[in-house]
Amino acid sequence: MTDTKPVLLVTGGGRGIGASVCRLAAADGWSVAVNYATNAKAASDVVDGIRAAGGSAVAVAGDVGSEAGVASIFAAVDAAFGRLDGLVNNAGIVGPPQRVDEMTGERLERMFAVNVLGSIRCAQQAVRRMSARHGGQGGAIVNVSSIAATLGAAGQYVDYAASKGAIETFTLGLAREVAADGIRVNAVRPGVIDTDIHASGGLPDRARDLAPQIPMQRPGTAVEVAQSILFLLSNAASYITGAVLSVSGGR
Ligand code: NAP
Repeated sequence: MTDTKPVLLVTGGGRGIGASVCRLAAADGWSVAVNYATNAKAASDVVDGIRAAGGSAVAVAGDVGSEAGVASIFAAVDAAFGRLDGLVNNAGIVGPPQRVDEMTGERLERMFAVNVLGSIRCAQQAVRRMSARHGGQGGAIVNVSSIAATLGAAGQYVDYAASKGAIETFTLGLAREVAADGIRVNAVRPGVIDTDIHASGGLPDRARDLAPQIPMQRPGTAVEVAQSILFLLSNAASYITGAVLSVSGGR
């Protein structure tokens, strides 16, 4: 089946920033593939909400941290929509606060498998479908970095910060590589955003606790990041590629 609306895949679209991207994108006229890793209920709630509002969405299971997971995500998108016009590489993980000399190899491998290889593998698959070089219609990719890439996250999660640094370099290089193929590649760099990710790293109050250190004196919301991602996906950003937009309240 082919779909006449542009199709957007959002990795980690069931919760947090990704869920807000899915909802805003659907309201903007995209058909949305809502990827999730383990929380099927959260993804199906996002899909149900989009459909109830008259939009088009499907939930797509798959772990971006494995090559097989990425292949199955894209196979499901192909089967559901038969086209792809946008990708938001949003899925990401942190770990509990640790010094680098305490981190296990397993932690490091998973951090880079999900945050870095996951984003690169999804971008590969997206470029194969969107690039004019491969007969595609062009498109846009937005990668989700973190302000941690510029701060280093010492004593908390330097591995996470380094993974986001890799995403920023990947954004720059891929943007230049596929610019003539009709694909724009940009990134957002969120600051402290009020989502579940802090609890998943063992610091449930992190967003509130850090508020006094943020120039705007408050954490951001998932919707505020999503609005920037939607801008970078849209034609309003038609001459922007290789950019990294901080969405961090001045942090
Ligand atoms: P979140 O609320 O913890 O949500 C993470 C999402 O990613 C969930 O939907 C989760 O799926 C999905 N996910 C995790 N591992 C995955 C995997 N291996 N394969 C597929 N999906 C996976 O996180 P968030 O705060 O919205 O973060 C989204 C992005 O923003 C991340 O890249 C994060 O690094 C970045 N970011 C966040 C902040 C912040 O302060 N919140 C700041 C800077 C950057 P399930 O629902 O199935 O678990």
